[in-house]
Amino acid sequence: MGFATQWVPGYAILDALKGRKMVMNTISVSQDRPLVVLPETVLEGISGIERAISLQTDWFKKWHDRVVVHHDRSAFKVDGIADIPLGAWYVSDESKAFSNNPGFKSLGERLGELVGQVQLFLGERPDGEPHQVDDYTAFMNTLLDLNILVQQLQNDAWRGLTKMDPLTGVRNRHEMMVELDAERERARRSDLVCTIAMVDLDHFKAVNDTYGHVVGDNVLRHISALFGEQLRPYDMVYRYGGEEFLLCLPNTDLDSALLVLERLRAKIEDSRVPYGEDGETVRITASFGVAQIDTIEHIVKTIENADMALYDVKQGGRNMVKAWQPAKSN
Ligand code: GH3
Ligand code: MG
Ligand code: MG
Repeated sequence: MGFATQWVPGYAILDALKGRKMVMNTISVSQDRPLVVLPETVLEGISGIERAISLQTDWFKKWHDRVVVHHDRSAFKVDGIADIPLGAWYVSDESKAFSNNPGFKSLGERLGELVGQVQLFLGERPDGEPHQVDDYTAFMNTLLDLNILVQQLQNDAWRGLTKMDPLTGVRNRHEMMVELDAERERARRSDLVCTIAMVDLDHFKAVNDTYGHVVGDNVLRHISALFGEQLRPYDMVYRYGGEEFLLCLPNTDLDSALLVLERLRAKIEDSRVPYGEDGETVRITASFGVAQIDTIEHIVKTIENADMALYDVKQGGRNMVKAWQPAKSN
């Protein structure tokens, strides 16, 4: 005796659906791509989406029971995507961790379609005819598409976590070798130069010894966030190990890189890392060794070059930016 038995397949109701699709156009998605996202933010994002999936499943069970089985449409009022659990999540701050994922926009579009389809079933057909199986199939297909898109977002988030340094959220060393080699290859093919910098925090052991490791960890996070704020979205930040970072600046020649990195060095010197409850702060400086990617040699050679320049900075008093100079022959 279900609602479904009344559906007559074959009607074209796309116009009605299209009219209702307008509802979704109020969604705005942030285009900002933070360079550094903390792992805990990603984990919170994953928990948030899991909650939304669970609520969406409950919603669908209720939909099936009320609308499909009992023909009771009064339990649902859907004016926009925020009235569907997954849509409410989508427009909330909780979804921000995913907003840079290319699938996020598609998810918004599909949610808009779902709203149109839900509204169709909650109302009368414009022609007064019974609702149709084809329409319901389209509604189910949208739900299945949503399921796939959400799964992809989750998978991407988990994959992103495996590339992250767990303390600071910057990329880890394993990713570094893979991506730097790709950058070297890209630079070789395109003739676009790419510059890297090895960054080592100065006297960091003394920070730990004076303030403790928790404060030391906070300094590492603070510096990572500063890299993210100061660099361009397509620059790369890696934790090389301990208190050492590697920065990769694509499409940047040595002279331009030195300007950018000098500005960054000064920012670090000027910044104060807060700790404790009485407004105390820690000061830190960093040393930079810089080298343009050698497109012929293995990437390890460029890292060694940057490391040599860094060694010179450490010898010369620290808190400076220095480029690697090729040894002069003859
Ligand atoms: P320099 O200016 O010559 O680089 O001196 P430094 O003290 O920074 O260098 P050193 O290599 O002597 O010490 C690095 C310190 O970084 C020692 C180590 O305990 C600390 N460190 C490495 N990883 C971490 C971490 O994840 N958290 C904290 N808090 N400290 C770390
Ligand atoms: Mg070091
Ligand atoms: Mg150091």
